[in-house]
Amino acid sequence: MQIAFIGLGNMGAPMAANLARAGHTVTGFDTAAPMPEGVTKAATAAEAAKGAAVVITMLPNGAILRAVADQVIPAMAAGAVLCDCSTVDVDSARAVADQARAAGLDALDAPVSGGVGGATAGTLTFMVGGTDAAFATVKPLFDVMGQKAVHCGASGAGQSAKICNNMILGVTMIATCEAFALADKLGLDRQKMFDVVSTSSGASWSINAYCPAPGVGPKSPADNGYKPGFAAELMLKDLRLSQQAATAADADTPMGALAERLYETFVEAEGGRGSDFSAMLPRFETRHRT
Ligand code: NAD
Repeated sequence: MQIAFIGLGNMGAPMAANLARAGHTVTGFDTAAPMPEGVTKAATAAEAAKGAAVVITMLPNGAILRAVADQVIPAMAAGAVLCDCSTVDVDSARAVADQARAAGLDALDAPVSGGVGGATAGTLTFMVGGTDAAFATVKPLFDVMGQKAVHCGASGAGQSAKICNNMILGVTMIATCEAFALADKLGLDRQKMFDVVSTSSGASWSINAYCPAPGVGPKSPADNGYKPGFAAELMLKDLRLSQQAATAADADTPMGALAERLYETFVEAEGGRGSDFSAMLPRFETRHRT
């Protein structure tokens, strides 16, 4: 398949390289990053998009996605699919899909979970919004770049699923970290704390699969000096998107709002930028009741 790939950063580069390795013809464009192996460089985003059956974007945010969509949509062949894999706000995802449809194209929002490790290994999970026809066209590419693609509903449904999942993740990670710090102060051994909670009703992915306490549970960024992993500032980005969507949809999300404020303070005022999002545990360790 002829594919254009716009945005070849930490995530996009290994995803595009996997598509090229699987035998697809991949033309790429990025304003700064070099081309990964097997990807032919185009001079502009529009040039990359010309003649492609699928145009994939993997960009930092919704404003940049909208700007790139303005460039590529007029250049795309009739019937082609614009597939955005970035994490962006639900409104931008829907606006870009509407713009594509008005131009006789189809569009998907297909954000991912799995991080750079999953992108490199080809084991991402895609959460997809858009038509059945577009999903069927792009499914073989999702199968190369990932291990699972869930068609969540119409345009915007992929981004909605992603931010709801990550709102739960942010909240459960904070709850897990504050509980570990409390257990420390109560004199409880961390291994015992893990043994009980991971098999009791306090269990969650945050403790069972990604334990924030070093030396306890499965290997996680905590065992590597809290090097990301999933950086605290990316968690903050996703929590902000969840609260933006909650405001637009008039949904009451008090825990999500508090998680956003805590990660904002951690990233912007407490030196958390560049640390894994589970570094909330050392943060709580140093704090006192206020
Ligand atoms: P990144 O900053 O490494 O890559 C983004 C790339 O887009 C950069 O190479 C940049 O030069 C390029 N770019 C910016 N403006 C452009 C333009 N106008 N035209 C073409 N290229 C342009 O970011 P990333 O970590 O690869 O993340 C990409 C997206 O994936 C984000 O939306 C992020 O939230 C999401 N995401 C990231 C992770 C992760 O662990 N890194 C996990 C899940 C989802």
